[in-house]
Amino acid sequence: MADVTISRLHKRYGSFHAVRGIDLAIPDGEFTVLVGPSGCGKSTLLRTIAGLEDASEGEIAIGGTVVNDMRPRDRDVAMVFQDYALYPHMRVAQNIGFGLRARKMPKADIEARVGRAAAMLGITALLGRYPRQLSGGQRQRVAIGRAIVRNPQIFLFDEPLSNLDAQLRDEMRSEIKRLHQEIRTTMIYVTHDQIEAMTLADRIVLMRDGVIEQSGPPLDLFERPVSRFVAGFLGSPQMGFVPSTLVRNGSGAAILPKGAGTPLPLPPGRIGPAVPDGVPVLFGIRPEHIARAGDGAPAPGVARIDAEIELVQPTGSRSFATFRLAGVPILAELRAHDVSRPGERITLDLNLDRASLFDAATEKAL
Ligand code: ATP
Repeated sequence: MADVTISRLHKRYGSFHAVRGIDLAIPDGEFTVLVGPSGCGKSTLLRTIAGLEDASEGEIAIGGTVVNDMRPRDRDVAMVFQDYALYPHMRVAQNIGFGLRARKMPKADIEARVGRAAAMLGITALLGRYPRQLSGGQRQRVAIGRAIVRNPQIFLFDEPLSNLDAQLRDEMRSEIKRLHQEIRTTMIYVTHDQIEAMTLADRIVLMRDGVIEQSGPPLDLFERPVSRFVAGFLGSPQMGFVPSTLVRNGSGAAILPKGAGTPLPLPPGRIGPAVPDGVPVLFGIRPEHIARAGDGAPAPGVARIDAEIELVQPTGSRSFATFRLAGVPILAELRAHDVSRPGERITLDLNLDRASLFDAATEKAL
């Protein structure tokens, strides 16, 4: 087990600057997920930790030892890839034990370790099969088994579930989480899937254009995004964003969506006194913070509006209903029976206590 410290790390491919000054301290035993859109540099960062890429600048330390000049195999990390990379001519047991045989471990020890890893992953019955006789999910379990038997200081995962269908992906995600709970080894996991990031991570590191945009526990990023980028990346369906103006009235403040006549009053203290009247802002609200209005008066911090429903997407117990706020399509996550058809006019409660506000120019949170 080991912690990982990354200091001022840069990676250039020729003139292209893929990782642009990353500082990151990963404590021993933590499950860290590197997430971000395609091309943000997350795989490059992972591969540099593994030693598959050389750092252009900066330092990587594993368990207090600087590893920049160490070969991958001397770093004591195990990597699981998207494409499994199993040997087709070897049975599952041989595939899992391959790295141990290469290190000349005694046969009985190899068998014991392979047996333990297979039991942990529920693939004991498959040990005698060849990779071609396995499903995608079973192959990925074998690839993970091969990493486990090495008993590494750190596990590195590079989009390990991308090749699986949706149901298997859900299943394997739980397996990987359970595995971490059991063995408590430091894990660093790359994905572009925000659900995978939210469900697996002790800490999410959200990257954009080679730098860290925000890092922290998943709910911190979800509830207190530092920017529109973070707010839009996490959450499905996405947060809705409405170009608006901040309106000050005495000690209070409100949001006036562009082109709308009625301001939406903000809860007291929601916006600091430093933000002046008339500032252009982006008002962000998540689907789950909009509900069909009940009979009584709205609760404090709730703005009530009339809306015409344009589109209804039922998911079973809930329905996503699209309406327009100042011309911008916004999704509301309603109870299935609260909305029935497009064209319906309903009254909605927007929970402004939970809404986000961003400076329209910088897109940073206010
Ligand atoms: P994805 O989710 O698409 O894998 P990523 O965030 O993992 O994206 P990286 O693979 O780290 O992105 O790549 C970051 C940037 O560096 C990309 O613009 C990519 O084109 C570039 N890049 C990666 N490897 C090389 C290479 N060997 N030579 C030149 N450019 C590279």
